Parts: sequence; C-alpha cells; structure tokens
Amino acid sequence: MKAERKIYTVEEICKGFTYNEAEGKGLFGLSGRLTIQPEYQRKYLYAEQNGAREMAVIESVLKGYPIGLLYFNRVDDTHLEVLDGQQRITSLGRFLTRKFAIKINGMEQYFDYMAEDLREKILKTELLVYECEGTESEIKEWFKTINITGLPLEEQEILNAVYCGSFVTLAKEVFSNSQNANVNKWAAFLRGNVKRQAYLHTALDWVSRGNISGYMSLHRNDDNIREMQTYFDSVIDWASGVFTNIEKEMCGLPWGELYEKHHKQPYDPTAVAAKQRELCEDFYVKNKRGIYEYILSGCQDTKLLEVRCFDEPTKKSVYARQTARAQAQGVSNCPHCAMSNGANRTKIWKLSEMDADHVTAWSKGGATDISNCQMLCKTHNRAKGNR
Ligand SMILES: [Zn+2]
Repeated sequence: MKAERKIYTVEEICKGFTYNEAEGKGLFGLSGRLTIQPEYQRKYLYAEQNGAREMAVIESVLKGYPIGLLYFNRVDDTHLEVLDGQQRITSLGRFLTRKFAIKINGMEQYFDYMAEDLREKILKTELLVYECEGTESEIKEWFKTINITGLPLEEQEILNAVYCGSFVTLAKEVFSNSQNANVNKWAAFLRGNVKRQAYLHTALDWVSRGNISGYMSLHRNDDNIREMQTYFDSVIDWASGVFTNIEKEMCGLPWGELYEKHHKQPYDPTAVAAKQRELCEDFYVKNKRGIYEYILSGCQDTKLLEVRCFDEPTKKSVYARQTARAQAQGVSNCPHCAMSNGANRTKIWKLSEMDADHVTAWSKGGATDISNCQMLCKTHNRAKGNR
C-alpha cells in the first residue's frame, strides 16, 4: 500500500463543505474532491452531548493543539474519501458554516463574528494527511491499525468500509436500521448494538458460515440481499418456533450453527418449553446458556450444562462413612471394586484416589447432594461416565 504525506489547511479541507441535516452527515470538502462521510461511515456523532466534542475540536485548533492525523483514500486521480478523521473534519466544517458556536471568555461566538486574527488562525491551521492507495486487504489491515485512535470502529464497520457497495447499502437498510420493526424480535436472539452493525455482522456470519469477508467480497455489487435475508429469517423463525419461551440466556447463542445442526429434527414446542423451564430453575445447572444446545441434541450431553459438582465437605464425609463400613467388612471402599473379583477387591483407596459420583445419574433426576453421593475409585468413576 502506498501512503503519501500531505498538508492541507483547514480552509482548503473545508472548501465546499456541506452538511446534510437529514442524514446527519458532513458531505464534501476540498472543493468537491473529498467525500467526508462515504456510505460506509458512521453518521456524525460529535454534535451529541450538546456538542461538547465538536467544540473541543475548535478549541484545540485555537490553542494550537494538534488534532491528530487524518487518513484519506484515493478513489481515483482526483477524488478522495476520508477513512479516518470524518468526525473532526465535520466539526471544522460545521463551525465554519455556523452550525454551532464556541464559548470564548464565557461568550458564545460564531465563526463569522470572531476576531479577524482568530478566524485566520483557524483557517490557516495545517492538518497532516496521509493519502493512501492499496488493495482491499491492505486497506483492511490498515484500518485495523488506525482503529486504535478516536472512536474505535467495530469489526463489521471496517468490513463495511472495505467492501462498500450496493450490497452493503441494501444490507444496512434492513440490518442496521433501528427503525426496523423486526429489531425487537431479533433482540431476543442477537447480541450487540444494531447501529454499530452487530446485527448485520450476525446475519453475515450465519449465511457465510463464518466466512464474512469472503461472502461480502463475492456479493459486493449485488443488487439484492435475498439470500442473506432468507437465511436469517429461516434461522430466527426456526429458533423462535422451537423455543417459545424467551429467556435472556438465549441472546447471542450461535443460532446459525444450531440451526444447521438441528433444523431437520422435529421438536414439540410444549415439551421443549417444559424442559427448558425445569433446567432454568435447576440450581445444579451452572451453565444456563448450555440448556438450548442440550435440549436440541436430545438431552444427552450433560457436559453442556456444567452440572455443579459435589463440594469437598460432602466428599469427605461420604468417604469417611464408606471407608469405615468397608474396613469393617474387609472389602474395598470402592463399592465397584468390592463387587469385582480383581486384585482391588479389598483395596482401601485414599480420598485423593477417588471421585464423587451420582448414584442416580443427574440426567435421570438424581440430586447433587449427600444423599445421592458415592465415592468411586477413579477407574470405576471414569468407566461409569454418565453423571
Ligand atoms: Zn473401583
């Protein structure tokens, strides 16, 4: 990737600046050669909180503080786009076009009414710009590097920049639009901020089976998002059909993956709801987020639930009781060893050589308390497997 260092004055950069109120975007600069907020960029945020941030940009310039590097992308021989710095440039442009005032000695001052020398100081302030040219992957890499300054971009915001085009524009209308009535329904299953592209990220992740950049590159110039939309709807419809009870632990689960693995299987939503409720209320189920995959895969794999283990005092007291009885009878303190004809039939194991076991398996309703606890030698405990 090539990067050329340039210096522009505030006056040059803001020449031809326009601000679009409806979209909340600064549009052009450098006499029309510079696009300040391309399609993929976030809207202007520095006016929020009563403009504290945009005022700070102007105050920095007046005090002679540097406002940081700017990065432009060369689109062609004449045109440039802002890759990093759109918030700062928009602040400058908005100030010069009287969109806000700053306070000098407690007095509100618009640009036009400021003292001549202060106006000159702002206009002649030099800004350091890197103008870059490169391949998609170079720009992407570099975006990640510059991302450490200013308002950090989310991964999907970077991807939207790298693969900007008709597909991203259409996808954002559906998946990055907080006015979309479906967003509330999706929020039960999806994590993150819709405006910061979290939902679009998930939709892409699902349809691409995790290969988001490959998918975006392939579909970059598509005039529709049908495939992604259909797939996303299928996943959500399936998940909300199987799990009719919405619990907060469902949010952010890998529903795309679960759909791929289980959607051909029939489920009875009533039975699923009953099982879900039972497990949600079960104190011994430590990993409530594992409940969904556990149910979908036929209630077999208790590892998903991280069932709470017996605590140390329980183990010690069961060990003492079992060992005393075994010694009195002259057999092993592992009940399985005691029943065998092997060499360990009379072996007294140490506590550290044994593990706690559910007499009635947890998956069959056995509790994790002292009444359902027995100590087995490690070999027999492992052989029993299913807790
Ligand atoms: Zn044993």
